[in-house]
Amino acid sequence: MLDQLTVTGLSSLLARGETSSREITQTFLQRIEQIEPLIHAFISWDAADALRQADHADKLRATGASQADKPLLGIPIALKDIIAVRGHPLTCGSRILANFVSPYDSTVAEKLKTAGAVLFGRLNLDEFAMGSSTENSAFGPTRNPWALDRVPGGSSGGAAAAVAAGECPAALGSDTGGSIRQPAAFCGVVGLKPTYGRVSRYGLVAYASSLDQIGPITATVTDAALLLEVISGYDPRDSTSVQEPVPRYLDALREDVKGIRIGLPREYMTGILHPEVRKAIVNAMTVLEQLGAHLVEVSLPHTEYAIATYYLIAPAEASSNLARYDGVRYGLRVDGPDPVAMYSATRGAGFGPEVKRRIMLGTYALSSGYYEAYYLRAQKVRTLIRQDFLRAFELVDAMLTPVSPTPPFMLGEKSGNPLDMYLSDIFTLSCNLAGICGISVPCGFTTAPRLPIGIQFLGRPFGEETILRIAYAYEQATSWHKERPIVPCVGPDISQPGIPGTKLA
Ligand code: GLN
Repeated sequence: MLDQLTVTGLSSLLARGETSSREITQTFLQRIEQIEPLIHAFISWDAADALRQADHADKLRATGASQADKPLLGIPIALKDIIAVRGHPLTCGSRILANFVSPYDSTVAEKLKTAGAVLFGRLNLDEFAMGSSTENSAFGPTRNPWALDRVPGGSSGGAAAAVAAGECPAALGSDTGGSIRQPAAFCGVVGLKPTYGRVSRYGLVAYASSLDQIGPITATVTDAALLLEVISGYDPRDSTSVQEPVPRYLDALREDVKGIRIGLPREYMTGILHPEVRKAIVNAMTVLEQLGAHLVEVSLPHTEYAIATYYLIAPAEASSNLARYDGVRYGLRVDGPDPVAMYSATRGAGFGPEVKRRIMLGTYALSSGYYEAYYLRAQKVRTLIRQDFLRAFELVDAMLTPVSPTPPFMLGEKSGNPLDMYLSDIFTLSCNLAGICGISVPCGFTTAPRLPIGIQFLGRPFGEETILRIAYAYEQATSWHKERPIVPCVGPDISQPGIPGTKLA
């Protein structure tokens, strides 16, 4: 079955001439038609456009193009609907952009196109990437392919669910406080958040600009390395991207982990950890030790302040970034008797409750008289959190932690209690505050029901090779990544492919 293959697997079939990009693309489109009514990983897709791109890739191959110069030639890749692709919808999971079509390509889209990928499908997300369950999408929630009554995680829940369910071989998500790694863990796939500045944010709609980063969600570590190599690099259009050479990430996978020092942050194995998650993490430690890694306890003393710090800085930046949705230049406009009434009616109707909550929190934290007490103080604590990591990285090459304190939770279980939802980000958001890199890989399942569990490896700034190497060694020593969920086929699809904004919940 083509839809069960990885990017690397599909590429070798293509290289041997055993299949075509058209055949591959058609297979994934069929799979989408069959299971999307249950999963709802996509907000929209355009089958005709995807097949056009696939035919173009096949033509290029026929005229001599190869994997060597175009590493993703003919491979379908789906993008979270917050990353711009010219001519494709760009809703950000929000009513306010329900009918917006991107007039330009993000840098990552440009790089994927240059690498020969077929860009199809817009993946569901929490509105403007604010959330941990994909329940905050204006287009309705995505369901976890392993258990349809569970959330896939968030905010890149559509991306993780689509890869897990075989609706696309790989995807790009964005991660501001865990949005790639936590859904990857919840869906039993691999998710990598690169170092801040590694991948250009040009064309990623801004949520919290000092934390946002684009990264791959894939079925294997090898695919993650391949995609990271394609999308990384300095970009003059993103002033925060860093002029650091892009290594051959695939080469990093060849080295073993003998003698590598892996830190176990004392503060992360706390009482809030679900017993089955704890067990899976402890088992993974044993596997790594058997592979020759040295596990060392380290301390990240400011961990307890991470959630408070993040939930001040991220909303503050969001309140500023989202000021641009005012009904004037693009997106939804709800008319009013004067401009102020128009702004207010537009934003009132266009934003969902979580986005409004963040805008209010952020505006409050930035307002005069409170700025020093909240925003400025949070920035200082952010520095302390970063120093915690840099100090620990003087002792170890990487760190090992859980991704989420619990396995995937039920739809609706936390949506009524924002604080409960925020607490589920405890192990992921420090990585963004510190600007370092992290990867989540499958490390087991709960027993009843059988739900995926993920493990996280954190690396130094620009230490992606090290965490990929550890993740790969662990993956090769285990078989969790080989398991796929069984999703019943219920197609034909009831939605309207390619037409955004028609399925507002
Ligand atoms: N759950 C976190 C939030 O709601 C992180 C989201 C993200 O990484 N985009 O902000």
